[in-house]
Amino acid sequence: MKHDGRFGEYGGYYVPEVLIPALEELEEAFYRFYKDKAFEAELGQLFRHYAGRPSPLYHTRRFSEHVGFQVYLKREDLLHGGAHKINNSLGQGLLAKYMGKTKLIAETGAGQHGLATAMVGALLGMETKIFMGITDIERQSVNVHKMRLCGAEVVPVEGGTGTLKDAINDALRYWTANVTDTFYLFGSAAGPHPYPTIVKHFQSCIGREARRQCLEQTGRLPDLVVACVGGGSNAIGMFTGFLDDKDVRLVGVEAGGKGLKTGKHAASLSAGRVGILHGAKAYLLQDENGQVLDTESISAGLDYAAVGPEHCYLKDTGRAEYVAAVDDDVLDTFELLTKLEGILPALESTHALAYIVNQKGKLPPETIAVVNLSGRGDKDVGIVEKARSK
Ligand SMILES: *Cc1c(COP(=O)(O)O)cnc(C)c1O
Repeated sequence: MKHDGRFGEYGGYYVPEVLIPALEELEEAFYRFYKDKAFEAELGQLFRHYAGRPSPLYHTRRFSEHVGFQVYLKREDLLHGGAHKINNSLGQGLLAKYMGKTKLIAETGAGQHGLATAMVGALLGMETKIFMGITDIERQSVNVHKMRLCGAEVVPVEGGTGTLKDAINDALRYWTANVTDTFYLFGSAAGPHPYPTIVKHFQSCIGREARRQCLEQTGRLPDLVVACVGGGSNAIGMFTGFLDDKDVRLVGVEAGGKGLKTGKHAASLSAGRVGILHGAKAYLLQDENGQVLDTESISAGLDYAAVGPEHCYLKDTGRAEYVAAVDDDVLDTFELLTKLEGILPALESTHALAYIVNQKGKLPPETIAVVNLSGRGDKDVGIVEKARSK
């Protein structure tokens, strides 16, 4: 069924005129191929044998004991590349191939989406350019090296603060001039229509698998499903599996940074106002003049001033709740999960776990919570160490 790109008042495609045909071509191709037998079979093979799907659902032992109820982790951290990002990059990369495009471009902040796209570019033999702010290039040099090893060109973006927002602006600008042979592989369930719908589709495997696995392992649905929210792709992928299960509570956790009162955070849903950024209407962190605010979080992957339109709609309708976790609690939780389970969570995913720790002793012991462990934390060990030595 075709989606019109509006989630209540949110979403849409507020883009320059020249991009409209490209977005329409993309939408048309998505609906032509996403249920196509050959496309589905090829993507299914890649999910299984390249990415490592289905990812396990793991019942934590000591962590559950610690919080006093049953916590299950959806192990997206075990996928190739170490995060859920590969689902979307494989899906859109293959779509690009089926559309006859020969070149991929993508934006990246921390480098995780850039790396996932560089991997897929190598896999599919496509020329790949990754737009990345100069500040981020400096902060995330390891990912820059990895992308280059995959054969991708990393394009430094000097405008603005040299971060994700600026990289998206430049990628959109480049796409405008190169739409014929170039596919823009967008990294989250945000941006102009049809991206929120496309990204949700390719990430929906998370929730679909988790629902089935929870039924298999526990004989019932979870009481609570929790995921971190940056742009919103891993969360919408997880929530989609449970949207129709009215008794399942859905909780999205944003980056509370130093605290919402300090202004140093990235909690668009908790503290933003409706505005337009990167082609979509959504909750947005902005000053009284509508200038987009700089965001701050210990996890680079959640550092985004806006959020996907469907989350805005789910917030307004009350189907999902959105809260924020602050850096200090995230650091504690990172160490706690590692110590109790021998699993290093990505700092992004740790936000969802911090919410769980916050519920310690507040929920009956038979409560079942499914948490999306969107990525692994190996990349964050240095950051945690530095924060702790301050
Ligand atoms: C990029 C990233 C996120 C945030 O992106 P969403 O689109 O909100 O999912 C979360 N977790 C990890 C591990 C990431 O790499």
